[in-house]
Amino acid sequence: KLSERLNTICESIPPGSRLADIGSDHALLPTRAVLDGRAVSAVAGEVNRGPYDAACRQVAEAGLKNKITVRLGDGLAAIEAGEADVVTIAGMGGALIVRILTEGKDKLEGVKRLILQPNVGEDLVRRWLLEEGWLLTGETILEEDGKIYEVLVGDRSESAEAENGRLYADTVVGQPPVELGREQLLELGPFLVREASSVFREKWTGEIAKHERVAGSMGRSDSADAREKKEALERHIQFLKEVLACLP
Ligand code: SAM
Repeated sequence: KLSERLNTICESIPPGSRLADIGSDHALLPTRAVLDGRAVSAVAGEVNRGPYDAACRQVAEAGLKNKITVRLGDGLAAIEAGEADVVTIAGMGGALIVRILTEGKDKLEGVKRLILQPNVGEDLVRRWLLEEGWLLTGETILEEDGKIYEVLVGDRSESAEAENGRLYADTVVGQPPVELGREQLLELGPFLVREASSVFREKWTGEIAKHERVAGSMGRSDSADAREKKEALERHIQFLKEVLACLP
């Protein structure tokens, strides 16, 4: 049985897709996607030998060698342009996901959907999607084994620019109202903040506590630069608290 995290990703794969799962580890996701008919074929890409071997074993044991190809390669180097219409990249930091997408941009031709699950740095991934003309069409936040995960779905869209404009246009949430600009929506997630689930609140309560620890450890400083940094962090903490306090 798949974890809830991987299951959430799997459910965003449109039935009949040609899938590429980059950083596939044990190839659990492509195996499930093929068994469920969500993927008609899949490539499981891995940069490391150990996970690559594990993926090969998994695919052989599932009897899916005719449908899932396991390849050793860095990021999107594991696929050919036009080979996949859905790409999943999960369980890595947002900066690494962005590096993989940027370096492999030519391989994204023909890809209609990206399903991305950064462990940290979700804002970097949202920003990449926005700047590269992908439309964020869905966000899910979930908690599993004491960890909180976000799954982001980006679709290629003819009208991405206009639609992204609406998605990231100044938004007012909560009571009393708090205004959110583009930068803040990139951080919080435009769908997630509007949905304001209990997991979302829990995540940001934890983030506030982390920021407060950092601000506390910054101490007093004579340097203007350090003072400015601390003040910016304190303003950010204040903003996050206001958002949390106003949500229903
Ligand atoms: N995607 C699976 C999941 O979400 O459960 C596995 C996540 S695992 C924590 C991250 C995997 O990404 C590791 O198996 C690692 O070898 C692989 N990886 C890291 N950098 C990579 C890269 N540049 N290209 C391909 N795979 C990479």
